Amino acid sequence: MTLYFKNGKYTQKDEVTVSIDDRGYYFGDGVYEVIKVYGGSLYTAEEHFTRFLSSAEKIRMPLPYTVAEFTEIAERLAEDNGITEGHVYIQATRGVAPRIHNFPGEETEPMITGYAIENPRPLAKLESGVAVKTVDDIRWLRCDIKSLNLLANVMAKQEAVEAGCAEAVFIRDGIVTEGSSSNIFGVKDGILYTHPATNLILNGITRRVVLKCCAQESIGVMEETFSLDELRAMDEVFLTSTTSEITPITSIDGEQVGDGKPGPLTARLQAVFESTIGQVQQKTN
Ligand code: PMP
Repeated sequence: MTLYFKNGKYTQKDEVTVSIDDRGYYFGDGVYEVIKVYGGSLYTAEEHFTRFLSSAEKIRMPLPYTVAEFTEIAERLAEDNGITEGHVYIQATRGVAPRIHNFPGEETEPMITGYAIENPRPLAKLESGVAVKTVDDIRWLRCDIKSLNLLANVMAKQEAVEAGCAEAVFIRDGIVTEGSSSNIFGVKDGILYTHPATNLILNGITRRVVLKCCAQESIGVMEETFSLDELRAMDEVFLTSTTSEITPITSIDGEQVGDGKPGPLTARLQAVFESTIGQVQQKTN
């Protein structure tokens, strides 16, 4: 039995149907979140649902639930589906209405759906690292919104996968912005570099956790732009996301990063990150 959520009801997958007139289907007119489950407990749920409400607000789509209510929905999905290590997916579209570009009338309510699935931690990649490919950042200028409109990200990831890489790294005007579904960090002379949280990137929740870990460990951080050439010259490079955590990047466009092995600062941050997961589990035990 797998329980899904649709507009206030918990139901079986086969019973969840979506209208052809859903604006998510026509326009990608909606927003989403992915929340990790460790040891049966949600990780950084408040941060995720705060961002969810903020994304919805930025596209002028009022949502009917608070952060606390969304957290309860996600908890129930994780719990009732018996998820130990996995994630909860929640999305909201502007609802169902005949296809016209401008917003439908106020009678049209958002379509909110969600589910929870098992998804083990990518332990092999966390240990050995991954290869990435750089691609042109052809996306729009509101990458701070976690929009369902992911066509440029989908195209980029496919290009990376076809080149035997795990992730695509976007380059806009020579500057490294972020991955197709991750944030990018570089380490040079013991200092961590990452693109500032502007409209050109999604301010990842994992990115924020890493920055907190750095503050806690007195590791220097520069939230400043850097070029592709500077990225190539970094001592260490890694990516972060909810499901990829802190994944070392060992090669960029076929050229190895540093000595081609995950670096020491990356490993240290992975260990600190791991301790924050432990804290979540302890809290609820
Ligand atoms: N950037 C983009 C474009 C993403 O899709 C994601 C994954 N949602 C991230 C960054 C990482 O965000 P988070 O750490 O919140 O998963």
